[in-house]
Amino acid sequence: MRVVFMGPPGAGKGTQAQLVSTALGVPHISTGDLFRANVGGGTALGIEAKRYMDAGEYVPDSVTNEMVRDRIANADCAAGFLLDGYPRTVEQVAELDAMLAESGQQIDRVVELTVVTDEVVGRLLLRAQTSGRSDDTEEVIRRRLEVYAEQTAPLTAVYRDRGLLVQVDGMGEIDEVSARVLAALR
Ligand code: ADP
Repeated sequence: MRVVFMGPPGAGKGTQAQLVSTALGVPHISTGDLFRANVGGGTALGIEAKRYMDAGEYVPDSVTNEMVRDRIANADCAAGFLLDGYPRTVEQVAELDAMLAESGQQIDRVVELTVVTDEVVGRLLLRAQTSGRSDDTEEVIRRRLEVYAEQTAPLTAVYRDRGLLVQVDGMGEIDEVSARVLAALR
């Protein structure tokens, strides 16, 4: 099963992706986590990515696509994966299609977690107090939401046209939301 998770910052994507990938028995691949691991490790990729992340902007496709290509070529992805935070641009959609086509694969489902915007800002500001993430400041959060609306929200139409999109209400308790996601995938 090859699944893509979408949703605005603060929708609970990371939390749900973790729970759902465990339930499905496939690896959870979060581009945000991969970038943060590189930032923490002080790699060249991390140093490059941090400039963009701290401004709430997307890391350039040239960097992001190669990182994902390497990760999904890993043996643990042979039977499937759950992608969290990728693709985020129309160009990344095409790139992912091409990567998968090389081995005769394709995406099976795209889950969009939907939330009310006021709720997301509140959640992110709350998380900002404990996350230690340098991109969890009010100004950067607002920019991340804008970038999502401009560059990533249009992807739902692309996947809807392919008949792959399922929209899941992301409001409510964590367990309620994961039950909804799993029901939508089964
Ligand atoms: P969020 O909660 O904002 O969705 P993520 O942890 O998924 O946070 O991503 C954090 C940052 O990592 C993004 O704001 C962006 O700079 C970078 N990033 C993650 N995924 C991508 C991607 N697919 N393309 C470009 N940049 C990305």
